Amino acid sequence: MRVDPHVHTMRSGHSSLKPSTIAKVARRRGIGAVAITDHDDIRSAVELSKEFPTIVGEEISSDQGDVIGLFLSEHVPRDSAMEVMDRIRSQGGLVVIPHPFDSLRKEAVMSEEICAKADIIEVFNSRVVRGGDNDLARAFAKARSLPEIVGSDAHTSLEVGRAWVELDSIDTPEDFMRSLDGASRACRRSPAVVHLQTKMMKAFRRVVH
Ligand SMILES: [Zn+2]
Ligand SMILES: [Zn+2]
Repeated sequence: MRVDPHVHTMRSGHSSLKPSTIAKVARRRGIGAVAITDHDDIRSAVELSKEFPTIVGEEISSDQGDVIGLFLSEHVPRDSAMEVMDRIRSQGGLVVIPHPFDSLRKEAVMSEEICAKADIIEVFNSRVVRGGDNDLARAFAKARSLPEIVGSDAHTSLEVGRAWVELDSIDTPEDFMRSLDGASRACRRSPAVVHLQTKMMKAFRRVVH
């Protein structure tokens, strides 16, 4: 089954994607499951898990940058990266560092020390603008022998499924880790227009609020 493990919904500030739209678009593109990883929110993930194979995730804003928890049962509040990782693991979840070393994103974890504590490194993110930054993430994971994942980081329907991993099972974190090892994957960058859409969404929200 093809899994896009990094997808946002309208509960992330600069996305307007409804969970039901994600299910529809994913099915159409041959994506069998997603992880919903909204910024500091798990409500859409829980909602979608009732109608589509979904891993409940959250992209948490830590003091060191974004940290993703997968297989969560409870919301993880913003905190230091170490505390966030502890809270993810204390509920049996997996720690993923998304888009590490992304030089154009202020929310990227840049600390190798923090990255080395993750269970999984996102070595390709469709929204990373400088391809070299994805290469840095991949080189880091290889050098430390850390498990690798990819993700679309979709904030619009256009992006859902642009990156995926082929996994046998996502039933438990253990199954997930086991099938991630050597999994085939697709890495396609998002068209530049998505960054413009994000900027417009951010500007629109500023006007509305
Ligand atoms: Zn992020
Ligand atoms: Zn994200």
